[in-house]
Amino acid sequence: LPAIFEPARPVLQRIEQAGFEAYFVGGCVRDTILGDHIHDIDIATSAYPSEIKAIFNRTVDTGIEHGTVMILDHGTGYETTTFRTESGYQDYRRPDHVTFVRSLAEDLKRRDFTINALALKENGEVIDLFNGLTDLKHHLIRAVGKPEERFHEDALRMMRAVRFASKLDFNIDTATEQGIKDNAPLLAKIAVERIRVEFEKMLMGQNPASGLAKFLETGLYQYCPGLDHQQAKLAALLPLSKWQLLSDAQVWSLMAWQLSLSRQGISSFLKSWKTSNDLIKAVQKRVPAIQAIRAGKVDNLIIFKTGLQGLLDANAVAKVFGWGMPEQQLREQFAQLPIKSANQLAVNGGQLIKQAGIKPGPLLGQIIYQLTESVVSGELPNQTDQLISMAQKIAKEG
Ligand code: ATP
Ligand code: MG
Repeated sequence: LPAIFEPARPVLQRIEQAGFEAYFVGGCVRDTILGDHIHDIDIATSAYPSEIKAIFNRTVDTGIEHGTVMILDHGTGYETTTFRTESGYQDYRRPDHVTFVRSLAEDLKRRDFTINALALKENGEVIDLFNGLTDLKHHLIRAVGKPEERFHEDALRMMRAVRFASKLDFNIDTATEQGIKDNAPLLAKIAVERIRVEFEKMLMGQNPASGLAKFLETGLYQYCPGLDHQQAKLAALLPLSKWQLLSDAQVWSLMAWQLSLSRQGISSFLKSWKTSNDLIKAVQKRVPAIQAIRAGKVDNLIIFKTGLQGLLDANAVAKVFGWGMPEQQLREQFAQLPIKSANQLAVNGGQLIKQAGIKPGPLLGQIIYQLTESVVSGELPNQTDQLISMAQKIAKEG
């Protein structure tokens, strides 16, 4: 058993000693067998949540209605979910009601893909009811059971297929892919927030171009906000060399750039994906920086306006197209800015009103903006007296 599971073994053992079954399941088993990094460990058990809580002193109800309890053990939390089935799917969406069961097989059967339906026992034994190990070896995403039925139960699984294809750099089994092509329109039934999670992960995977290719070939893109008429622009990304995006800000900046969205366009596109307002603002900042990097015009002003994180994100997107700058250079240019944020300006609005005699109002805002620009670009030193006389000069000239 890989070292990462060691600290969790006593947890499984205690559940077993109490007369129940417990296994490591899902992504952690898949990723361990692949030799990939594991980010969290999921446990499935025949014990009901109340039974888990009776076994362990310290637990947190993280999703008790779905059967999930977090066990706290030596400072680590382990998500433990009771075996369950999800019957009564309506409207092609994951059902709200789950039924707890005592059988591991029932629980594995409701999982999406064979490679995600493996269970690992505390003694190292792998339970593989759907030939997930063979599919792992062949790098294949294959639905558990009949693809058609599984996508009817929960249409999000189609997006998950293309996201795992990208994440793991796997192919999709032929029948599973056909199932996606046949049922792609059902994606329209799924909450956009859930689609967004998978879409972002798809573009942050090991082979995003391959995931994106499948997203286009299967027609799933037609049922995503703002993408239904964008096949050509999305397909133009496919020949680009393997890229690596690390955050949702980078993902959506790439989209905004590639779709040539205006500031307003970014806002309505991202609103249709129900992203946060912070993300909208972040993307609006990054797109002009991508343009500057592309044009080789990364001056102090754009650096100041974009901020360091924004610049690095814009650069990550520029790299997708082969325009990236050395990151060190961007960091140095940022470090050399005379001021790094507006509040470092040596005067504020109050001082300009009192000492430069400027009236509160839109002119004041414009003056502060001009002063900031002059300081950032190095035309004017960041000194209070010089800024005040410059402000007076601007005010006089109107
Ligand atoms: P990642 O490492 O990217 O989180 P993961 O396999 O852990 O991958 P999750 O989305 O965290 O993916 O889901 C955990 C497990 O729950 C999956 O491995 C799968 O067994 C099951 N699962 C998740 N979503 C679905 C779904 N929509 N339909 C069926 N099974 C699902
Ligand atoms: Mg997971």
